[in-house]
Amino acid sequence: MGQRPFQRWFLSAEPSSTQYYQDTMYQTVQMLLQHVTRETKSFSGTTPMQAEERLRTLFGESVSKNGKELHEVLQNVRNGVMEHTFQIHNPVTMAHLQCPPLVPSLAAEVVLTALNQSMDSWDQSGAATTIEQQMVRWLCEIYHMDEGDGIFTTGGTQSNYMGVLLAREAVSKKRWGWDVKQKGLHPNSSSLRILCSAEAHFTCQQSAAELGLGEQAVVPIPTDDTYKMSIPHLEKTIQSLKEEGLIPFLLFGTAGTTDFGSIDPLEEMASIASEHDMWYHVDAAYGGALQLSKQHGSKLKGVEQADSLTVDFHKMFYQPISCGAFLVKQANSFHYLTHHADYLNPEQDEEDGIPNLVQKSVMTTRRFDALKLFMSLQVVGTETLASMINSTLINAQYIASQLEQEEAFQLIHEPEINAVVFRLYQENWSEEQTESINLAVRNELLNSGKAIIARTRINGKVHLKVTILNPTITTKDIEEVIEAMKIIAGQEAGKWSKTN
Ligand SMILES: *Cc1c(COP(=O)(O)O)cnc(C)c1O
Repeated sequence: MGQRPFQRWFLSAEPSSTQYYQDTMYQTVQMLLQHVTRETKSFSGTTPMQAEERLRTLFGESVSKNGKELHEVLQNVRNGVMEHTFQIHNPVTMAHLQCPPLVPSLAAEVVLTALNQSMDSWDQSGAATTIEQQMVRWLCEIYHMDEGDGIFTTGGTQSNYMGVLLAREAVSKKRWGWDVKQKGLHPNSSSLRILCSAEAHFTCQQSAAELGLGEQAVVPIPTDDTYKMSIPHLEKTIQSLKEEGLIPFLLFGTAGTTDFGSIDPLEEMASIASEHDMWYHVDAAYGGALQLSKQHGSKLKGVEQADSLTVDFHKMFYQPISCGAFLVKQANSFHYLTHHADYLNPEQDEEDGIPNLVQKSVMTTRRFDALKLFMSLQVVGTETLASMINSTLINAQYIASQLEQEEAFQLIHEPEINAVVFRLYQENWSEEQTESINLAVRNELLNSGKAIIARTRINGKVHLKVTILNPTITTKDIEEVIEAMKIIAGQEAGKWSKTN
């Protein structure tokens, strides 16, 4: 028997393979650590054009014909890529709902990519499927969905899509005895309406569009002054839609809006959904993790009544992208999705008790992301995870109280989770000036690498936002960013007084 060809390129029991794997991983970890220890800014400030030029200089052609030494490639990746990405390990990288991943979840990524299991069928995953089922059971437990079930997804976008999809199938079946899977949309589908708050995630509209209902199907309900869905407006809207002969079939709640982190009145919405026989979906992509916290879990009260639920782990559960879940209150809701493919999940398997998760997913080949959550919970434990989450809420309160005291700032809301929206504001500034100063603050911080904060618009006006996801942030970090913002704003205001 001769030596197998290409042996070292694939992980196996052969010494040439194990040696190469070990060297590769070792060098990679070393390079990553060099990067992390060297890079203290949030961002290098590189432009898209500079990034492209730099890569061309470092790599030449972006594809190599005869291969190169790993060390050389890694070094170029460090200098050309790592250094010019957003440094998510820096606690003042706080623009978006983008978390630093837990170290045990990084270990899990090493394992799950090496095993490369596919979660569609038992015969491609084995015990990996069991882990996902266990994680889903745990989720159903913490969200009190005793008869529930769920599936891991790529994130909130996919989970929300699945919520709208199941709601559409359910209403068509109930109202018209119509099987959308078989027959396509019912002729009256254009009268279906989805109600969400004006602050709901754009994927609610996007899902309606993708699912043939059109964006016209989505009726945004105004929020109250804390950016939560206004119940009087909701009730009035349901009534007037019904009077027009339209069919409000899906109430789409949000537990943690992307801008403000506001949590809709989930309990009242649950009763209204039930009273009007509507499917109740809750998008807890952002806020779902609060369920782990003794102090803040009650903010999600009512979530257990959701027919379907979106949770993201690549936000406040500190998992690497991508990792999310979609849960349903009644396990049999998934039958709307099930398609039996003879090669993957024959009906015989179901009778034999062999789980093929493909029948609960809108994907076929699917990553073993459940292992990340599993290993994180095993190693870190729910208590520490809850403390991390609590600490981010405390820090968000801190930044809000600091901004409130500062003359230069206007705080827009009391943070409900850890997103804080504010702006630089003086009464004697014109609107144009306010806009230009706030944008300058965001851009200057970004380009100097001092911090990454977000900009958003409220009633058309530019505002700034920070999302305190990183539990390692200190009050000193926060104070330094506030100082930096004041300095930039002062300089920018100075330019205005000179030119006007
Ligand atoms: C992040 C987010 C989404 C989208 O989820 P992805 O994981 O980015 O696909 C949906 N809804 C809310 C409230 C979110 O915060």
